[in-house]
This record gives sequence, structure tokens and C-alpha cells, in this order.
Amino acid sequence: MRLFQELEFLIDDNMNQSNTRLLSAMVETDSISHAYLFSGNNTDQLYKLALSFAASINCTEGGCGNCEVCRGIIKGVNSNILVVESEGNILRIEEIAALQRFMSMSAYGPGRKICIIRESELMNREAANRLLKTLEDPPDERSVFILLSEDMSVMLPTIISRCLVYSWNFEFEDGRSKQTEFKILEKYLDEGLKSILVDKKINHDTLDLSLKVLEILRKMEAGIRSSLEMELERIDNRDYEKNDLKKYQSILKSKHKRKLAKFKKLGISRVFDIISAWLEDIITVRLGASQENLNFKNNYSFINNKIRNVKIKEIIKLLEAIEGNRAYLGYSINPELALDNIFLNVDGLILER
Ligand SMILES: [Zn+2]
Repeated sequence: MRLFQELEFLIDDNMNQSNTRLLSAMVETDSISHAYLFSGNNTDQLYKLALSFAASINCTEGGCGNCEVCRGIIKGVNSNILVVESEGNILRIEEIAALQRFMSMSAYGPGRKICIIRESELMNREAANRLLKTLEDPPDERSVFILLSEDMSVMLPTIISRCLVYSWNFEFEDGRSKQTEFKILEKYLDEGLKSILVDKKINHDTLDLSLKVLEILRKMEAGIRSSLEMELERIDNRDYEKNDLKKYQSILKSKHKRKLAKFKKLGISRVFDIISAWLEDIITVRLGASQENLNFKNNYSFINNKIRNVKIKEIIKLLEAIEGNRAYLGYSINPELALDNIFLNVDGLILER
């Protein structure tokens, strides 16, 4: 199992250690499952992980790192491996159909057919349903699917339940900046929700909050955009043939476009997470749990003292609306609409009271 020990980009923590231990044991005992879902905040690192795991499965030494099979798979070039990737910012049914064709052919040599789906959260509903059928009834007993995802919350739960799920911890690529912005976002949402829940009349506040949230997301997006532009400038300064440069630039540009679209989706999904956690806290307090059990422990006395009149039934309705819009986020081209829907729902609850 040399390959798994050489993954220097993994943080040395309990979760990663236990994941590698379990996966290694599966390879050693030849008890490979037919579907895996790897989740984590970095698609490229998830991809490297998946390739190492795939090589370990098909290498006769369990992942020596040196044989032809290992070296080929690590580079993503091997006739038993198919990598599925979105063309734009959606994974469509055509890509899943190609995957099905590939998986229905028999494997070359003694190895298994392995299919890696990058950014599987980008599947639209049609593609996800098609994949689900394949996962439920795989064409070959020995075929293996490895789904990669930066955000499981927008995936079909029925797909997730078909997979063995492993979450991985990676360092943030661009330092702490993204983290800090999310903290600011959390603070705005926290203050905004408090004022909305306490004062029933001010439904213009929800509009205000929704605009502020979008403003923060746009600011974060601008940060990403400028770092991508720097990437384009850097290649501009290098020695390239004019034609090669043009081609490379257009590849990078479409990659950037996809990254930005995905960021928007992730950002809004994060907003949903924060609102849900907040609402769950209200229910938790109402059911008599202590401060220790809250997602946001500082809100304990606020919930206890200020909003005793909010009905649990109303909160559950809102949580349902959030989950409903999350699914919508999975295949919506305009994720801002999902966000608008949520704030409309918050508004609706306040008007009802
Ligand atoms: Zn090998």
C-alpha cells in the first residue's frame, strides 16, 4: 500500500487516518465495494486520492506505485479507468450515457473497470437519475464507481445512500481568506435573522438581508475572479507559440467559468447551512436541550428570552422549504433564485404571524 502512504497533501488527522486505514484494508482483503463517494473541499486533491485508490485496487501488489498499472492510473491513462468530467458547469445525461457504455464493456486483463466522476455535485437531475439506475443495477459485479464531490448537500440523497461515503480534510488552497469571508457572512445572517425573528413587522429587513448576503458572495467571487485573472496573466508572460497560447488561454477561461459557477452554488448552499443550523437551534432550545447542544452556543439566551413566541411548526416549515430549495440548487442554472425563494419563505412566515 505504498501509494496511500505517499499522499503528502492529506492533513495528518484522525479522519484522514481512519479513511486510509479502512480503504487499505478493503484493498488487502479484496472486499471492494461497487460505489464510493469521496467528499472534501478540493476537487483536484480528491481526484489524486481517487486515482491512488483506483491504482491500489488494480495493482497486483495493492498499490506499489512502480508497476505499469500504478504509473498509468496515477496519470489517469489506463484502459480500465474512465474519468467523467463536466463540460460546462453541469454534468449532463450524455456524459452519464458514455459512462454506462464504458462500464458495460468487459475489463482488460485481470483488473476492474473503474469510473471516477469528478464534481459529481454538478449532475443535473436527469443525469443523476440515470446514474442512480446504474448504481442500483451495475452492469458488472466487479465494476467500481468513485464519485467525487465538494458539496454533498446538493446531491440526490438516493445516490449518496448507494455509496460508501468518505469525507477528507484538506488545507484550504488560498489560505484563510475564504474562511474569514464565510465568518462575515455568518455574522450578517446571525444579526439579520435575529432582527427578523424579534420584530414581526419589518419584512423589508429580509430583503435587506438577502441583498447583503448576495453582496458578500459577490465580493468573494471577485476575489476568486482576480486570482484566476492572475493565472491568465502568468501564462501570458511565458514563452508559448502564439497558437498554443491561444488554445491554452481558452481552456483556462472555460475552467475559470466553471469554477466561478460552482463557487456561487457552494456559497449559497453555505448560506442555507447557516440558516438551517440557526433554525435547528431554536427547536433544540424549545425541546429543553442545554447550551452545549447548540450549533451557535452564543444564541442560547437570545432564543430563550427573545423569541419564545415562535412556533416550532413554523420553524419546521421553514426548514422544509430550505431542504426543498437545496434540491433545486442542484440543477438550477441560476442559484440566486433558490436564495430568493428562501427569503420569500422567511417573509411569508413573518407575515403569517
Ligand atoms: Zn503497482
